[in-house]
Amino acid sequence: MSRATDEPSACGHCGIPDRVHYQRWKPPVGWHQWTPPSQEQIKARMTARRAARANPTTKENS
Ligand SMILES: [Zn+2]
Repeated sequence: MSRATDEPSACGHCGIPDRVHYQRWKPPVGWHQWTPPSQEQIKARMTARRAARANPTTKENS
């Protein structure tokens, strides 16, 4: 999963968008429902998305 393209409003635990989240098992939180991200997460995601757009040659291999 690419963290850089997470939607700013995606789950605070795993980064999956609200509309496709349902229940997910993700370490270390285990089973959980979509949880609003913190303002810090939203900000970091928007920054990462901007950076990814600015550098389209940067590949994420993780
Ligand atoms: Zn989640």
